[in-house]
Amino acid sequence: MEPILNYINGAFLPSTSGLTLETVNPATGQPITTLPRSSAEDVGLATKAALKAAPTWANTTMEERMVWLHRIADALEEEAETIAQLESMDTGKPISLARSVDAPRSVSNFRFFAEFGREHVEPTFADHGAVNHVHRSPIGCVGLITPWNLPLYLLTWKIAPALLMGNTIVAKPSELTPMTANHLAKILTKLNFPKGVFNLVHGLGPEVGQAIVEHPEIRGLSFTGGTATGKIVAATAAPMFKKLSLELGGKNATIVLDDAPLEEMMDGIVRASFTNSGQVCLCGSRVLVDASIYDRFKSMFVEAINNIVVGDPSLEETVMGTVISKDHQAKVESYIELGQDEGGVVLTGGSAATCPVKGVAAEGAFLRPTVIEGLSHTARTATEEIFGPVVTLHSFNSEQEALDMANATDYGLAGSVWTADAKRGYAFAQGMDTGIVWVNTWLNRDLRTPFGGVKQSGVGREGGAWSLNFFSELTNICVKQP
Ligand code: NAD
Repeated sequence: MEPILNYINGAFLPSTSGLTLETVNPATGQPITTLPRSSAEDVGLATKAALKAAPTWANTTMEERMVWLHRIADALEEEAETIAQLESMDTGKPISLARSVDAPRSVSNFRFFAEFGREHVEPTFADHGAVNHVHRSPIGCVGLITPWNLPLYLLTWKIAPALLMGNTIVAKPSELTPMTANHLAKILTKLNFPKGVFNLVHGLGPEVGQAIVEHPEIRGLSFTGGTATGKIVAATAAPMFKKLSLELGGKNATIVLDDAPLEEMMDGIVRASFTNSGQVCLCGSRVLVDASIYDRFKSMFVEAINNIVVGDPSLEETVMGTVISKDHQAKVESYIELGQDEGGVVLTGGSAATCPVKGVAAEGAFLRPTVIEGLSHTARTATEEIFGPVVTLHSFNSEQEALDMANATDYGLAGSVWTADAKRGYAFAQGMDTGIVWVNTWLNRDLRTPFGGVKQSGVGREGGAWSLNFFSELTNICVKQP
């Protein structure tokens, strides 16, 4: 495959240093292609281009920008199969998942914000003989930094509202998954999208990401990634008073109440646990089950998990592919080992050595879905983010105990509650210290709703009006007639 290049001022360029990195297919261990290992110098060039393009783009009307978002959505839709293939190859996720989630969501992010622009109103308040006009202006040049688990899905979730509100962009996708961001840049070129409005700089987090965060003329930053990186981003950006949105890690609880109809709900609970090999920040990696149904739940859960087809991501029948890399596989395996050291018992799955996936390349980062029981809910395995196909199983004796267990981590991103009684689920959800709770469903996303976490899962909300707020500056202009 042809090498990936930076996209700066509408041109595809190598890094100024000429250095490159490799992106690897995690299912084969083979390199796919190279990408620039960029530096602060490349970020400087991209920012210069974004600042030059900013006044013209900011002066377009919102209607004109909405038309652009629709055009991009249409082009992405036409190329949905290519995007799904690239995403599956780069991440090791099954092609069926890339087709049903990643590719269509990238389209709907643009479509949604294009339509949502219509609801944008600038309120006025009349008082004391004057009228206050609340006006939104673009922030200017914004930095967008994203992780590897849902590459184009998460990047477009930021690009679309940033463009809609009149900002120009310097973006950095994960160095592990640069393929679809590169494809988006190609699409923008074909569409004759204005040069310099969207710029893409590839490379390593501590080099390119850090340079974006440090750049004094990038005034807004939307970052999605791990909590440890988020701390560095926050510490760097705070003294510069940048506008900052942080979407970070999670250790989400799935709570199964005693009245949950398990036959009906088991598919949803398994999906919440293992979609994308457990590498969705919203996955429920701690399953808390009422003690009165624990044994029945456990046997049904393990049986359902044993039926998950793990294998070659390019095959239609594959339900679970790889984790992102061999390094990440080793990290996940170290947690499986830790779980056992902490007194847990592996009910199914395990490391690649103890529980190999048959018929796949030995170099691939494959793991079977793993369930560990018998751990304290305060064990490290049950409180630290593993971000892989590992779930810990716990029982509780009362709703209060379930709530205490659910809230006993430093994270607060999401969770789900499963019950025959939706009202009971809703009441329970209100006690959960998280940004998002689903009752009897999971990853059911209405793009108008606020998305984000509490505690160490992040700061701020994106989605619908919250994205428009983040990607703009509010000014109040108070006018009194002479
Ligand atoms: P990561 O924090 O390692 O990297 C995220 C991005 O930050 C990458 O592009 C990386 O290159 C960049 N980066 C690394 N160091 C940087 C620095 N010093 N300055 C600026 N940028 C830097 O995360 P990851 O391993 O790519 O992704 C997994 C994590 O992302 C998990 O913790 C997961 O929960 C989280 N995540 C959160 C959400 C959410 O919406 N809350 C969504 C998806 C993933």
